[in-house]
Amino acid sequence: MNIILIGAQGSGKGTQADLLSEHLGFAHVASGDLFRKAIDERTELGMQAKVYIDRGELVPDDLTVSMILNRLEEPDCAQGVILDGFPRTIAQAQALDSGLAGAGKQINLALYLEVPREELLTRLSGRYICKANQHVYNIHTRPPKTPGVCDIDGSPLYQRSDDTGEAVQRRLDIFFNETIQLLGYYDRQGKLVTVNGNQQIDSVQDDLLAVIRNHTSA
Ligand code: AMP
Repeated sequence: MNIILIGAQGSGKGTQADLLSEHLGFAHVASGDLFRKAIDERTELGMQAKVYIDRGELVPDDLTVSMILNRLEEPDCAQGVILDGFPRTIAQAQALDSGLAGAGKQINLALYLEVPREELLTRLSGRYICKANQHVYNIHTRPPKTPGVCDIDGSPLYQRSDDTGEAVQRRLDIFFNETIQLLGYYDRQGKLVTVNGNQQIDSVQDDLLAVIRNHTSA
């Protein structure tokens, strides 16, 4: 089963995708994480993407689509995936549909995590992620046990440069002007379900799992 999680920066998408991946045994494929890994490893793709990421802009579709379609061919994606951060444009969604169709697969569900913009800004200002595996913390709502250190892998926590200043506003503008159009795209395919993301982490996860179970038993 292939699921897309749609949500603005700070909506809890990454956290929920991790939990879903654990519960369902599907691979968690996060475009932002793949880019940050490529930047850390100083690959050609990483160097090209960094310019856009630092400005809070979208990386061009050709780079992004091929990175994701290659990732989806890996064996751990065979049973299903939770896509996080991709697609972000209609062109990406179309490329994903045709890429999957070529492999006899499709997107089964698109889940939208709805959170008001003011709440997103509050969450992003306190967000820290770990260097090793991108585990997400929030100094206000979900602090690590030891300040500055990841509970899970012990690596240092840092604040993303694109979570502050102008870049964060630009990223939210892109989400609410452009990525939001995906809701219509998946709604027309009968695949969209909206979930209230403005609740405790466990409640959001319960709601997401209920939607997925409903879908699989339908
Ligand atoms: P994220 O961690 O999902 O917020 O992604 C961080 C940054 O990576 C974004 O602000 C974009 O610059 C880039 N990025 C991630 N996913 C995509 C995508 N689907 N299309 C274009 N750029 C992306």
